[in-house]
Amino acid sequence: MPSRQAPTKPGRVVEPPPRPDKKPFDIDEVLGRIREAVRHFADAAMFALAARGHDTLFEQLVACILSIRTRDEVSLPVSLALLQRASTPEALARMSPEDIDALIQPVTFHEAKAWQLHAIATRTRDEFGGALPCDAQVLQSFKGVGPKCAHLALGIACGHEAISVDIHVHRVTNRWGYVQARTPEATMEALEAVLPRAWWVELNRLLVPFGKHVCTGTRPKCSTCPVLSFCRQVGVRDAR
Ligand code: SF4
Repeated sequence: MPSRQAPTKPGRVVEPPPRPDKKPFDIDEVLGRIREAVRHFADAAMFALAARGHDTLFEQLVACILSIRTRDEVSLPVSLALLQRASTPEALARMSPEDIDALIQPVTFHEAKAWQLHAIATRTRDEFGGALPCDAQVLQSFKGVGPKCAHLALGIACGHEAISVDIHVHRVTNRWGYVQARTPEATMEALEAVLPRAWWVELNRLLVPFGKHVCTGTRPKCSTCPVLSFCRQVGVRDAR
């Protein structure tokens, strides 16, 4: 398998390494194939919540914070339990951080997240009249909210064209050779320069299940992967 050259900048768009055995990289064809491949897998947690009616910006932001460093199988039922109890800033602000913590025990960093969620609910109630504005800067001004959560919540709840890069999106797009970046944040910047805008929101929805089930962190399933003929397999040394 090819080895990956060390990037000279934190994140950049590069010509994929030449591979005579590979087709020219066609992002529309690649994502179209992946859309088919992940059709029978469960939606990523935030998309699944939106499909169940929890599609406000506040609910999506709450769910994304709960999902940080926590598997969807754990964060999804916890998000549902919390949002069924308090789905608005006013209702969540009325709860104590201790009560929130008791409801979200299964997620990672639950105590810190409980205080963060309570602070977001209180500020949204007091400063924004109970409705979060569709504004990335406002969302990222809350403790615990970075570009990944802000962009995903804005994409789902507000229809913003925004790329959300988690560890799956970062890993897969770099293995393709489509971008070359060391961190998810740098991958997001590189993707913003090259990815057609029509894919900006759906990219996360497709690559989270694809990264969980096909292009896995260790030993990706390259031999049966639907995009093997396009993928440069950058850095892949042990594939199934
Ligand atoms: S599974 Fe293999 S071939 Fe498919 S995208 Fe991942 S690295 Fe590329």
